[in-house]
Amino acid sequence: MPFRRASFDTPPKLTLTIGGKPVILEQGKDAALRPSVTEKVRRHNVGLVFVGYGLKDARYRFDDYRGLDVRGKIAVALSGTPDGLPTEIDAHLAGSKDRMAAEAGAIGFIEIPRKAGSGRSDPMRRAGRPLIDWVDSSGHAGSVPAGLALQLGLSEEIAARLFEGAPRSLASVRSDARDDAKSGPRGFALRPTLAIEAENKWEDFTSPEVIGLLRGSDPALAAEHVVLMGHLDHLGMKADAKPGEDAIYNGALDNAAGVATMLEAARLFAAQPVRPKRSVLFIANTGEERGLLGADYYANHPTVPAQSIVGLVDLDMPLLLYPFTDVTAFGADHSTVGAIVAQAGASMGISVSPDPMPQEAIFTRSDHYMFVRRGVPAVLLMTGHANGGKEIWNSWLGTIYHSPKDDLTQKIDWDAGARYALLNYRIAKAMADAPVRPMWLQGDYFGDLFDPKGPRAPANPARQP
Ligand SMILES: [Zn+2]
Repeated sequence: MPFRRASFDTPPKLTLTIGGKPVILEQGKDAALRPSVTEKVRRHNVGLVFVGYGLKDARYRFDDYRGLDVRGKIAVALSGTPDGLPTEIDAHLAGSKDRMAAEAGAIGFIEIPRKAGSGRSDPMRRAGRPLIDWVDSSGHAGSVPAGLALQLGLSEEIAARLFEGAPRSLASVRSDARDDAKSGPRGFALRPTLAIEAENKWEDFTSPEVIGLLRGSDPALAAEHVVLMGHLDHLGMKADAKPGEDAIYNGALDNAAGVATMLEAARLFAAQPVRPKRSVLFIANTGEERGLLGADYYANHPTVPAQSIVGLVDLDMPLLLYPFTDVTAFGADHSTVGAIVAQAGASMGISVSPDPMPQEAIFTRSDHYMFVRRGVPAVLLMTGHANGGKEIWNSWLGTIYHSPKDDLTQKIDWDAGARYALLNYRIAKAMADAPVRPMWLQGDYFGDLFDPKGPRAPANPARQP
């Protein structure tokens, strides 16, 4: 797949005009303009509009752009969402604000932390780094919504100055965005304008997605595809390693274990005397750690008709370090895949547990989510918290996750690996052989949003989040 790395040879020129006076912004100190993979040279002089939380959603009746004209301007939003949303929907909405801004006609997006000095990561640091993204032959990129030319972060001081001459100050609108507030502040036009001159350096390269196909045996259903996938990339080499220090991010459990699971499931599929009814695609994704890029590219440029992909099993970071007795099935509650997982688990004495860390919103943070966004019911199994799993997860996430220590010196429980592979195989096989394709449950938020016209299964109210 085609990638592009964008960075700045010379720092971009950013000038904010406040009350008729120019204020030069220093890239990396006052502001951090994100490099662009879609526009080589950018010259803009634009107005800005505060848009509250910057949310638009029919189900929850968020319409922060109502009455505001952001066309050709920069939308300025507070980070966060109103209180009381299910965590997966919260994470989905919080991660979709740039798209919502672009859909409202904005050409730029700035997010200001909801509380002074807060935010998941420093927007200055994040926005200024080189940007790696996929760019296809028609110039579309993965993480850049069409039409959104400018994405930037601002220092706390400059963020506050954007509100000079406005009906309310930044501190005042922040007071409406308390943790327990059910809605955010209303938006309004801002007085300053921002002039930007920026030229990018681009480096293009490719990275392989590795795809296998097992054709189904049923004359009608073979045209449909079930996907089993895991990401084959990890973090590469540690840039700031000391001499003698292990600098290789091996990624044994994240995610060689997932790819090995996929290969073993593929071997099992191929070893059966009768092939599954539906076709099965095996995909080893690249670029997951860079923002689910390989999965996103494939979901946008599938090698089979997009509509023929009917269900998906994602294999990412199984902790194969203990004899797990339960799993958590991210995504299962949204579709009939939940019943398939429960049945496959029961056949092996493995129970399905509720999400032990809903605040992490794992459902929106791995490759399968890029297919969910194209309307495909999907699931990711996490080895569970029972039978000592909780302590192992906590210590692993604290000391090994995304470090060079995720290597083969860990005590891999190979029997657990075999059971994890068999379980995922049975889930994929049930999807591939069932008379009907996996279906979103009636009224499910993600189904209604991403596959509004698709078939539905009756929802069991007890399982609806
Ligand atoms: Zn991973």
